[in-house]
Amino acid sequence: MLDKRKFYINGEWVAPLVANDLEVLNPATEKPVAVISMGSAGDIDRAVAAAKKAFATYGRTTTEERLALLEKLLEIYKRRYEEMAQTITLELGAPLSMSREQQADVGVGHLQGFIDALKRLHTREVLPNGDVMLREPVGVCGLITPWNWPINQIALKVVPALATGSTCVLKPSEFTPLNAMLYAEMVHEAGFPPGAFNLVNGDGLNVGAALSKHKDVDMMSFTGSTRAGIAVSKDAAETVKRVTLELGGKSPNIVFEDADLEDRVAGSVLECFNNSGQSCDAPTRLLVQKSVYDKAVEIATRVGKEAKVGNPAEEGSHIGPLVSDVQFGRVQALIEAGIAEGARVLVGGAGKPEGFETGYFVKPTIFADVNNTMRIAREEVFGPVLAIMPFETEEEAIEIANDTNYGLAAYVQTGDPKRAERVASRLRAGMVHINGGPHRYGSPFGGYKQSGNGREGGMFGLEDFLEVKTVHRPDAA
Ligand code: NAD
Repeated sequence: MLDKRKFYINGEWVAPLVANDLEVLNPATEKPVAVISMGSAGDIDRAVAAAKKAFATYGRTTTEERLALLEKLLEIYKRRYEEMAQTITLELGAPLSMSREQQADVGVGHLQGFIDALKRLHTREVLPNGDVMLREPVGVCGLITPWNWPINQIALKVVPALATGSTCVLKPSEFTPLNAMLYAEMVHEAGFPPGAFNLVNGDGLNVGAALSKHKDVDMMSFTGSTRAGIAVSKDAAETVKRVTLELGGKSPNIVFEDADLEDRVAGSVLECFNNSGQSCDAPTRLLVQKSVYDKAVEIATRVGKEAKVGNPAEEGSHIGPLVSDVQFGRVQALIEAGIAEGARVLVGGAGKPEGFETGYFVKPTIFADVNNTMRIAREEVFGPVLAIMPFETEEEAIEIANDTNYGLAAYVQTGDPKRAERVASRLRAGMVHINGGPHRYGSPFGGYKQSGNGREGGMFGLEDFLEVKTVHRPDAA
């Protein structure tokens, strides 16, 4: 078992102030693979003090100096890429092929996206009225991340903080701390000055809250559940910090009768099941036009039945377990709620798949005849569970799609490009995917409504970490 009980503070691996061990489990075997420390408010004080001290000098480095550090980090990340993929498989349960092709890949893509954006960023601008506008690093940043796409969220926060000249304290999810610690090793090797980046492990209530409340933290960047995002906002309010939030979703996926039905319904099912359904932007509500509803249900049933659950340590396109017993319990409860509320089970259902009694495996599940008031249509399941519901007109589809507290992503499947644009403009969501159009590195990622308020990645991601200063000159026009 790996001993990972130290924190990374001020450029060194240091013991926690108070010993408090936590075992990290492999979700496929339920066996411990590492032991970490759960920190305390005192550890956060140490890390924030290091970040504050470092900001005095790191905040004044040039863009060229920071670009050189980021290029070095990219080189190291690429060299240790396989370790990152293996680590994510071990602690999250993402199947190895998926870890290599998707989970670890985002660490390269986002870093490159930020490097490209930083090269284009103008930190000094003369406004038409003659005033000068400067963009400056926001200061000490508290970064809190979830477990589901762990290095994705870490890269989307750590990189823009360091790229803009801010310093930071990262508190990764206590369920997936190992990839974050590997990232800390890479940041160290890249040569960032002591205190620019710090890492403290721990839970949300003690360590996360200590960070959000800390008077010397200038900004909180949080990704996770809407519940915790609200807590971070409240904790940060007393010290009037900037808070950016990337929260949950219940993304609609509208299939019109003129879509390439076979391709788009099959693709939609697989996308919902990807990462065992543990994606904030997963297309979990499949809205299908009535004229093609039965056909779509038939395709979804076939594709759902073909979806295989398997050992994440093996290569292949199978689905791995959920991350934890807590998530397993939540997903089971929602599958049972779907059955109790009268949705029709096409595939899967409650319980574990045959042959997978050990590990947090669930059956990929598809419900038909769902209506938008059911819990499985309103709550984020965060498991491989799809809810299919019918609609008649374009107007009705838009109404159902927007009838949610969330607004992260939305999906439109249609053979009519004009309709695609028209519907996309009416959907209250931060990102709309048309006919399988993927998210590209460098584009803004984030949501409307209770899905959050920030935009991560590329230029927008840098801007979240920048202060704006106006300099009024006596000779201004
Ligand atoms: P979570 O909210 O339970 O935990 C996320 C992080 O917040 C963890 O590090 C946790 O320790 C910390 N935390 C929990 N309570 C806290 C508190 N009171 N104060 C400070 N920190 C606290 O979420 P999770 O279960 O780890 O992740 C799943 C959620 O994340 C889902 O809702 C998902 O939709 C969301 N998510 C959103 C995005 C996005 O970009 N919009 C991306 C990935 C995940």
